[in-house]
Amino acid sequence: MINNIAERIKEVRNQIKQATQAAQRQPHSVQLLAVSKTKPAADVAAAHAAGQVDFGENYVQEGVQKITQLQHLPLTWHFIGPIQSNKTKDIAEHFAWVHSLDREKIARRLSQQRPAHLPPLQVLIQINIDDESSKAGIAPAQLEQMAQLIASLPQLQLRGLMTIPQADASADQQAHSFAAMQRLFLQLQTQYDQIDTLSMGMSNDLAAAIAHGATMVRVGTAIFGARTN
Ligand SMILES: *Cc1c(COP(=O)(O)O)cnc(C)c1O
Repeated sequence: MINNIAERIKEVRNQIKQATQAAQRQPHSVQLLAVSKTKPAADVAAAHAAGQVDFGENYVQEGVQKITQLQHLPLTWHFIGPIQSNKTKDIAEHFAWVHSLDREKIARRLSQQRPAHLPPLQVLIQINIDDESSKAGIAPAQLEQMAQLIASLPQLQLRGLMTIPQADASADQQAHSFAAMQRLFLQLQTQYDQIDTLSMGMSNDLAAAIAHGATMVRVGTAIFGARTN
């Protein structure tokens, strides 16, 4: 199992390298976030032994449990799931990054609840780029206002944008959505300092995301195997 995870990470890193080459980008311009949701702490430790540092979790309780169990390892934890207001304190206290910020109330709470001894929480605004009713994220038209609010909050540092495009889209539609995200990201970079992260691309679409400027890909299945729940 341990070897398996190490080999899969190597394979994913290779895919990232090839996609960056195809897009004429630097190999180190894309970071790998290993999405460990539903997988045990032992799998995270195995991935770390293979050189992986950044991990993503979707469920607060489960994430906090793993973070606590693995405190002895120098890992960076990213919260990438839907955020309920009664869970903001746990997120603010345990995670370094949040990719799924899409409500002003949640932004205010995260800033208030981020402990003063920790660096500001690094945040990405989630964009619902395909305007799906089932999906979290703000509409592009709301980005300006959301970014302004986050920039005004002392314990949040805005780093960029995140999206999860429509799952069953055609390659053309998907490329269109990724390209729209890239435009929003480049626009945001002209307005704020420290905007360096465009989180898009998962196990099945990372090459297309990298072709459109992704700087962080979130990969679960291709590293840890299929999830049963
Ligand atoms: C589960 C999840 C991923 C990983 O998806 P895979 O297809 O398993 O690589 C990435 N991003 C988010 C937000 C997720 O919930």
